[in-house]
Amino acid sequence: MLKRRDFLKVAGIGGAAALTTLSSGKVSHALVKWRMVTSWPPKFPILQEGAELFAKRVEEMSAGRMKIDVFAGGTLIPPLGGFDAISAGTVEMGSSASYYWPGKVPAAQFFTTVPYGFTFDEITAWLNGGGGLELWNEIYAPFNLVAIPMLNTGVQMGGWFRKEIKSVEDLKGLKMCVPGLGGKVMAKAGVSVVLLPGGERVPALEKGVVDAAEWVGPAHDLRLGFPKVAKYYYYPGWHEPGSQCELMINKKKWEELPKDLQAVIRAAAYEINNWSYAQFEMENAKALNEIRKQFPDVKFTRFPTDVLKVFRKLTNDVLAEEAAADKTGAFKKVYEAYLKFRKDMELWGDISARAYFKAEELR
Ligand code: CA
Repeated sequence: MLKRRDFLKVAGIGGAAALTTLSSGKVSHALVKWRMVTSWPPKFPILQEGAELFAKRVEEMSAGRMKIDVFAGGTLIPPLGGFDAISAGTVEMGSSASYYWPGKVPAAQFFTTVPYGFTFDEITAWLNGGGGLELWNEIYAPFNLVAIPMLNTGVQMGGWFRKEIKSVEDLKGLKMCVPGLGGKVMAKAGVSVVLLPGGERVPALEKGVVDAAEWVGPAHDLRLGFPKVAKYYYYPGWHEPGSQCELMINKKKWEELPKDLQAVIRAAAYEINNWSYAQFEMENAKALNEIRKQFPDVKFTRFPTDVLKVFRKLTNDVLAEEAAADKTGAFKKVYEAYLKFRKDMELWGDISARAYFKAEELR
C-alpha cells in the first residue's frame, strides 16, 4: 500500500494517468469515474446547465481525481428512470426531483415542494437545520439512495390561462396541465387535469386542447412560447413555492467513496444549489420584463383571494388523504415533521421576511 507521501511523489512525476495504475486496489487514490443521469432535457436552462456545472466543479475541486459524465434525460435512460437505475447501482448518481417518485416513495414529495409549502429560504432552513435532510435520507435509505439538495427553482408561477378566472366557479370543467399534488388539489376544485410533458403544453394551449397550463416561471415559459398562446399569466405559484431538486446517489457507492470526495460532492452540490436559485431569480426578472415589452397584451394576474383560500383548504384535504393512503406511515411522519417546522417558524416568518415584503414604505 502506498503512503500518501509516496503517492504524491509518484503522482507528481507520472501525472493523472499514472494514478489509476499505481493505486490499483486502493480506492482512495484511484481516479473515480461516475455517471450521472438527469431528468432534464439536453441543454435545459439552469437545471441541466447546473448538473453539468456540478460535474465540472467536482473535477476541479478534486484536482481531476473524480470525473462525472452527465447524461441529460433520455440520452442514457428515460428522464424519469433515475430512481430505479441509481437505486440498483446501474448508474452512480442523478439530478432530479423527489416529487417525481410519488408511486415509489410518496413522502419524498415534501422534499421538493407541496402546495402552500416552503419557499427557498424555508426549505433551506428545514433541510439544513431543521432535521429535514436527515428525514429525507432516512426514507431514502431503504431504496439504497442518498439525497443532497441541489438546484432550486424559487417561487414558480401559477400558470397560463386562456381566460380570466374570477371565481372558483370558473375552474369547473377547465382543462389544465398541472402535475403532482397541485393537480390533485385543482381536480378537487373541478379542474380536469391533463398531464403533458413541458414541450407539448404550448401546442396544446394553442389548439385549445387545454385551457390552461403551468410550467416553471417567466424564463422557461417565455422560451417555450407560452405568451403567444395564452394571455393571463397567473401568480403566485401556490402549488410550487420553492421547488427543491435533488442530487441522488447510490448509497453503497457513496459509502465506498473516500471521505474527501464525499466532501467535494457535498460542497459542489451546495454551490450549485445557490447558483441555481440566483440564476432563477435573475433570469425570471429579466424574462418578465421581456414578456411585458414583447407581449403587452399579457396580463399578470393574481389568483382571486377566494380561489387561493379554496386551494388552501383542498391542499389540507389532499395531504391528509395522501397520509392515510401511505400504509408505510412515512408520508404521515414527514407531514407531521413538516407541519411542526412550519409552526415553529411561523412567528419568525411573520415578523421578518413576510413583514418586510409587505411593507410598501420600505421599497
Ligand atoms: Ca411547475
